[in-house]
Amino acid sequence: MKAMRAALGVASECAPLVKTGGLADVVGALPAALRPHGWHLRTLVPGYPALLARLSGSHVAARQDDLFGGPARLLSAQAGGLDLLVLDAPHLYDRAGSPYLDEDGQDWPDNDRRFAALGWMAARVAAGALPDWQPEVLHLHDWQAGLAAVYCEEMGAQAGRLMTVHNIAFHGLTGAGRRAALRLPLAGFSPEGFEYYGQISALKAGLIWSDRISTVSPTYACELATPEFGMGLDGVIRARADALSGILNGVDLAVWNPATDPAIQPFATPRGKAANRAHLAAEFGLEPGDGPLCAVVSRLSEQKGLDLLLDALPRLLDRGGSLVLLGSGDRALEAAWRRAADQFDRVGVRIGYDEGLSHRMYAGADAVLVPSRFEPCGLTQLYALRYGAIPLVALTGGLADTVIPANEAGLRAGVATGVQFHPVTAPALGFALDRLCTLYSDRTSWGRMQRNAMRAEVGWDASARQYAALYEGLAHTR
Ligand code: ADP
Repeated sequence: MKAMRAALGVASECAPLVKTGGLADVVGALPAALRPHGWHLRTLVPGYPALLARLSGSHVAARQDDLFGGPARLLSAQAGGLDLLVLDAPHLYDRAGSPYLDEDGQDWPDNDRRFAALGWMAARVAAGALPDWQPEVLHLHDWQAGLAAVYCEEMGAQAGRLMTVHNIAFHGLTGAGRRAALRLPLAGFSPEGFEYYGQISALKAGLIWSDRISTVSPTYACELATPEFGMGLDGVIRARADALSGILNGVDLAVWNPATDPAIQPFATPRGKAANRAHLAAEFGLEPGDGPLCAVVSRLSEQKGLDLLLDALPRLLDRGGSLVLLGSGDRALEAAWRRAADQFDRVGVRIGYDEGLSHRMYAGADAVLVPSRFEPCGLTQLYALRYGAIPLVALTGGLADTVIPANEAGLRAGVATGVQFHPVTAPALGFALDRLCTLYSDRTSWGRMQRNAMRAEVGWDASARQYAALYEGLAHTR
């Protein structure tokens, strides 16, 4: 058998162990996706308490007496089907709350050093700290891993570096005065380096000191180079355009399989959704009307455009549609959605995070709404496709790349899988909801769209091949 090549992924979350969003799904799915392509991808993650509790067969692979203010151990372990390196550093990670926020929803004040430490350990591994395992490629995910690229340079690590941008909105900024404490070289603090308007940006560091950059859809790769979507880093992206690729995220087909999903009443054809639909409506205490039962599963943030949906909601309700929403985040949006649930009979809202309910929503909904202002890839529309719920999405980022619109051309060719709208405004969304209801009322063509959706290729095959090709190129960079 051919020997496996070694690569190390570095991330702040990883499904099924710690998840706040799509980043975790992708980091958790990549190792299995890359294995058939000859890559053994281990994943380095922080040792949060909930994660440490789930490890099996762990042993200490390396130690560091002082890792940004305290002792740390690097544990080699398995959990959730993954081959992990876990950074056990109680002074940084032994805290209640989410990976990033305290119990009051505020960023931990020392997030800079918490994730600098992760990057430092990653660089040490890339530089050969483990006697029996050395990665050829270091795969850094988002700002939390960004500083690893600088540390690799400082340590002379040989591994090729890939920085993947899952969302350029999060820069990982900290004050310039923190440079020495974060063990960053003075020479790097310049506009050509990790300085961002007088501050330090961990994401920018990753973009500049990596050999290649990828992002999670081809359309988002194009958008990143524009002032509208580049969030202040579009100039850096343009300067590194030759190093940039857009590779779509996939779905873990074993986990997201409507025929075997233990969280739902399994089904293999659109007809089989009926029981899940009835169950979902009952779970939210709704009597759906004649129109589509729509679902939203989302972080509640400006990005996701759910304020626009509040404005456009009457268009859906007037046509007999109904809506169930599961989400959490911005307090004002949470309150606004609670009010909508009070106001309208056919609107149900759950504020919180509930993995099982999210599965039941994809399984039971006729449509899933994703009116994002920007969306690097988006996973919810992929789950929707897989579960025969028609995605209604904004024409942006990965939403543009994964949904075949039910415009005249799409319908005539019989290939449509969803509805797209543009510009991302409440009136355009209202119009799209109206169109969704019209499409829904034609049961024959709706059924066809559902079948197209359920057959859409949303797995990792094609994307894993592209990552493997990138890894292959990177392995020979240095
Ligand atoms: P993002 O990463 O920007 O949050 P994605 O669409 O890429 O958006 O991924 C979101 C992931 O998080 C999906 O797996 C979705 O089902 C899940 N998710 C979001 N909000 C919730 C919630 N409140 N409860 C359960 N799952 C959620």
